[in-house]
Amino acid sequence: FLKGKSAIVTGSTSGIGLAYAKAFAAEGASVVINGFGDAAGIEKERAALAETSGAKALYDAADMTKPGEIAAMVARCHAELGGPDIIVNNAGIQHVAPIEDFPADKFEAIMKINLTSAWYLMQAAVPLMKAAKWGRIISTASAHSLVASPNKSAYVMAKHGIAGLTKTIALETATFRITVNCISPGYVWTPLVEGQIPDTMKARGLTREQVVNDVLLSAQPTKEFVTAEQVAAMAVYLCGDAAKSITGANLSMDGGWTAA
Ligand code: NAD
Repeated sequence: FLKGKSAIVTGSTSGIGLAYAKAFAAEGASVVINGFGDAAGIEKERAALAETSGAKALYDAADMTKPGEIAAMVARCHAELGGPDIIVNNAGIQHVAPIEDFPADKFEAIMKINLTSAWYLMQAAVPLMKAAKWGRIISTASAHSLVASPNKSAYVMAKHGIAGLTKTIALETATFRITVNCISPGYVWTPLVEGQIPDTMKARGLTREQVVNDVLLSAQPTKEFVTAEQVAAMAVYLCGDAAKSITGANLSMDGGWTAA
C-alpha cells in the first residue's frame, strides 16, 4: 500500500533500521538507506530492497553528526524519488558508563546522532510534507524515553528528548495530514545491544550471562527480546490510513517493562 511513496530511514545498514527499510520495501515504497558499514554489504542490501519493492532504492552515506549532510540527503530523496513521504529517525549509538567516567566526546556523539539529527531531518522534511499535505514521521525512541537505567545518562537524555520533539512537531503539523510518533522498544537483539554487553559487564562486575538474564531481560516481564521485525511492523501500521489519528504518541513495545 506504499507504492509511489518514498521513505528515508536513518541508520538502516543494520538492526532495526534495516528491518524498517525491508518492511517499507515489501509494501512497495522506494527507500533511502543510510548508515555505515562495508560497501559491498550495503550495496547487496540496497539491490535486494529494490528487487523487493519493484521501486528504487538508494544508499546515502549522510553522517548524522553533520546537519548539512542530513539536508542534502533529503534534497537528494526529493530529486530522485520524490517526497520524502516517510522519514524514520533511527540512527543511534550507546555508551555505558557512570557520569564521572563518561567521556565528553561520547556524550556529544550520542546527543548528535540520537537526538539533534532527528531535529535536522524533520526541519528539512517537514516543508516538503506540508506542501504535499501528507507525511509520516517516526522515530525509534526507547523504553529509555520513559524510564532510566544507571550508567546511560546520555542515551536516556537523548531518548527523552526524542519523546518531546515528537510531541512538539505533531502539534506543528497536525492540520497537514502529517503524523509524528515515536516507537519505544524494550531490548531488541541487535548489534547495538550486543555491543554494550562488555561495558555493562565491566561497569557492574557481571558475567555475560548475568548481563543478558539479570540486567537486560530482568527489565522485560515477558523475558523475551523484542524483534526488529515487530518494531518495523508497527512503523508500517503507522503509515496506514487506520493510524491517521495517531499523532504525538510514544508507543511502547517493551514486553511490559514500563508497566512495572
Ligand atoms: P545498530 O547498531 O544495529 O544500528 C545503528 C545504525 O545507526 C547503523 O546502521 C549504524 O551504521 C548507524 N549509525 C551510527 N552512527 C551513525 C551516524 N553518525 N550517521 C549515520 N548512521 C549512523 O542499532 P539498533 O539496535 O538497530 O538501533 C537502532 C535504533 O533503535 C537506535 O536509535 C537505538 O537507540 C534504538 N533502540 C534500540 C534498542 C535495542 O534494544 N536494540 C532498543 C530501543 C531503542
